[in-house]
Amino acid sequence: MTKILMFFILSFNAFANLNLAPPSFNYKDGKAIFMDIQKGEYKISYYPSTFRSRVKTTWEFEIAEEGYPLFDFVPWGIRAKLNGKRVRLGRVRSPGKVTRYRVIKKKLKPGRYTLELNTKIKRGITFGFRRVNSGFFIKDLAQKKFLEKYVPANLEFDQYPITFDVKVRSKYEHIFVANGKHTKISFNHYKIEYPNYFSSSSVYFHVFKKGRYRWQEDTFTSINGKQIPVIVYTKKKYDTSSFMEKAKEYFDELERDYGAWTHRELIIYGMAKGGGMEYPGATATSLRSLGHEMFHSYFAKGVVPADGNSGWMDEGLASWRDNGYKTFDHPGYEMFNLGAHSPYKRNTDDNSYRVGRAFFAYLNSKFDLKRSLRGYYAKYKNSLVTTQMFIKYLEEDTGLYLEGEFFQFVLNPNHRKNFVERIFKTKSVNEHHRHYSKKEMSAIL
Ligand SMILES: [Zn+2]
Repeated sequence: MTKILMFFILSFNAFANLNLAPPSFNYKDGKAIFMDIQKGEYKISYYPSTFRSRVKTTWEFEIAEEGYPLFDFVPWGIRAKLNGKRVRLGRVRSPGKVTRYRVIKKKLKPGRYTLELNTKIKRGITFGFRRVNSGFFIKDLAQKKFLEKYVPANLEFDQYPITFDVKVRSKYEHIFVANGKHTKISFNHYKIEYPNYFSSSSVYFHVFKKGRYRWQEDTFTSINGKQIPVIVYTKKKYDTSSFMEKAKEYFDELERDYGAWTHRELIIYGMAKGGGMEYPGATATSLRSLGHEMFHSYFAKGVVPADGNSGWMDEGLASWRDNGYKTFDHPGYEMFNLGAHSPYKRNTDDNSYRVGRAFFAYLNSKFDLKRSLRGYYAKYKNSLVTTQMFIKYLEEDTGLYLEGEFFQFVLNPNHRKNFVERIFKTKSVNEHHRHYSKKEMSAIL
């Protein structure tokens, strides 16, 4: 391999994620630009005796054009050093005021930089006598609820190796639950290395005093022979075994339908009611939503949406599965827009469940969608996808022209907002796992 060829291949890899970033936009005397983080190290320390936490984040990042680099961190209070020197940060709105970011208030030339950020954890944290309970739980139907809610993070388009070095200064033993590789350094001090295909919506992290939750472990054997460690934990008053039994059932179903479990483990934080949230190889969920959330380890966290315009597919597919993989001759509505919003949109459209599943039930009348999904998963697991990539895959796989259907039914900027309300006769709310009345059901299906 020649040096020049090598250079091109390296550059291509380094900037691969930036192809999926939203467009740069005007800012001050230049442009606000998105960064590509190469490596992210987070030193997280908890001090229960003084009810404090401290996080030191160090990123190696690259930018491909000149400008003011963007990232995100929700709470106030952040100090930054760029290549060892103090640097000022600001907040900036995206075009169309769709979202807000943090911006480095210094115009930088293309290249590689080191950014050091000092912050505290303000959300999802409680202290007690010599103990801490801190979880980085995410949500995807509202924006700015990923990793950036707790520690500095890039946007969802960027996959980068993330390492946590976590310490709890307490003489009581704490448990560190995470969907990454654990290395014990000393008592209450662990290093967690997350896989390099993770992004700001992938990290599962929860630390608490030992004995705080009911705990059950098992091992599932994958169809490829791999042993998958399984952890179920719940509040003391709830039962872990029903989660474990159901998890085995869903694990077998999903492996049969889509192939081997791709993640290193399965972590289930079982809750009494409500919906759930998915992570790669992990979920915080009620028993009722467990199947839905485990499905997301395939579509959402196995094949990963690159942005807020791509997330509708995962909810549509999961919901299509929850409703028994139905087939419709017609979606039951004329047009809708789930995935053709602003490129700066960061959250999933909350109509993705019912509109998405009706659309997939319709596609299923044209070809065997489940069979196509199996191949799609095999091709794209652990990588990022957009709606366009999904359409292209399905068209190549089936030989059918499908773009027109997608544009009509799920990417249609002409749809009237209230249209679906009338058709479905239900309010547009987060109905992740909501049960329908019989009347609503017949209106939808
Ligand atoms: Zn879901």
